[in-house]
Amino acid sequence: MASTIFDKSRATRRAKAQHPTLASSPELPSKFLRTEQPMLPEVSELQAVRHFTNLARRNFSIDTHFYPLGSCTMKYNPRGAHRAAMQEGFLQRHPLTPASHSQGTLACLYELQETLQTVTGTAQVCLTPMAGAQGELTGALMIKAYHADHGDTERNEIIVPTAAHGTNPATASMAGLVAKEVQVNAEGDVDLHSLEQVVGPKTAGVMLTNPSTCAVFERKIETISDIVHGAGGLLYYDGANLNAILGRARPGDMQFDVLHLNLHKTFATPHGGGGPGAGPVGANELLAPYLPTPLVAKDENGYRWVEQEERPHSIGRLSAFMGNVGILLRAYAYALMLGRDGMRRVSEFATLNANYLMQRLADAGFELPYPNRRATHEFTISLRREAHETTVTAMDFAKRLLDYGFHAPTTYFPLLIPECFLIEPTETETKEELDAFADAMIAILKESHDNPAYVKQAPHQQSIGRLDEVQAVRKLDVTAIPS
Ligand SMILES: *Cc1c(COP(=O)(O)O)cnc(C)c1O
Repeated sequence: MASTIFDKSRATRRAKAQHPTLASSPELPSKFLRTEQPMLPEVSELQAVRHFTNLARRNFSIDTHFYPLGSCTMKYNPRGAHRAAMQEGFLQRHPLTPASHSQGTLACLYELQETLQTVTGTAQVCLTPMAGAQGELTGALMIKAYHADHGDTERNEIIVPTAAHGTNPATASMAGLVAKEVQVNAEGDVDLHSLEQVVGPKTAGVMLTNPSTCAVFERKIETISDIVHGAGGLLYYDGANLNAILGRARPGDMQFDVLHLNLHKTFATPHGGGGPGAGPVGANELLAPYLPTPLVAKDENGYRWVEQEERPHSIGRLSAFMGNVGILLRAYAYALMLGRDGMRRVSEFATLNANYLMQRLADAGFELPYPNRRATHEFTISLRREAHETTVTAMDFAKRLLDYGFHAPTTYFPLLIPECFLIEPTETETKEELDAFADAMIAILKESHDNPAYVKQAPHQQSIGRLDEVQAVRKLDVTAIPS
């Protein structure tokens, strides 16, 4: 068992440079000073460095391992974009610095707005939402505000297909809308009959995750648009996985009124562990007035913020200042590095890699839930037959993959597919890496027949073994207080 840094603690051992001497600070009133020593481990600087370096080495990360976590787009984050965003001028700029002294930052943000408008086919993009889910909330609030403005106060229902990302019904509910589920058919498309049943005078709109979580591209978008627009509703596009279509197809051209994208997925900014992110929202002419503030505008005097006073219909602020500027700057640098052709290559290789890996796994006998459909940037397989024949489940496969040096794909999601893996190789992997992953899956399949108990106890070569997931959720205890 790993020892905590407290186990290494010895009284009075110090990393001198890291030992704050707050008590000597004359500005702090004495009532705020501690009277007891803080409970900190007493270790040398070298011990601290080793401890945390060794902990970090146990991580599975994009920088260390193939990470095909479907829907999350765990792809390489170019160091060049990172370096550009880490320049002193950006880092040292105080968020309250006036626009006249922030022209460089504002220019980058303005151009990012313009770039995202172009790639999504929208009239105006707002950069401030700080996650995909916050972008969805923004869109749902805008749809609501639009209907309210038009005296359409009865429209409180939002249609969400069962193949939507789980955040869609959640954010719609947070916005005060009632989520109405529609089914998808056996091919993974929205069931139009079921859609026609639920649309009506109460329909505020539809939220469409595309490609859906079944990892297929919705083929009936035009009909869906006709049905929902025809009933007076609006169309929301969950574009978190825009890498499937980047540079090739634009939600704006598909009649969507409002959408979000995840810069921390498609635009290669680091994510994982819950943050930070950026979920810009784009809207057509109809909904643009409702976008949050601030936006960035450009006029003869240069770049400036556009605040609430100029945007009376805006739903208001969703973040302090300008959202996660560090993430926005990385995305801007990434967009510049790619250019128009590079963006097309992103979707080309994202889909090529997914289709290649899907075919290799299908050839090895793994079940494709939608065998007649091409993969988008990701695909699903179902391990239900394996689970039935060998008792080795998708979860067991996922744990055993760690021993082979691969982060697990998304498991048991979407819920529509039993014993599901949602696999997203991303465009930044080599053919050799994809082959190695397919080989590992094939090897585990063989192990499942030869020695299922061994697979069911995996992982065997990690710093910790199988956790009791129920206990981990219900009785999570991450404290390491010395006794
Ligand atoms: C990741 C994702 C989201 C949510 O984005 P967050 O930044 O995690 O809030 C929404 N929809 C889809 C399709 C996603 O893949």
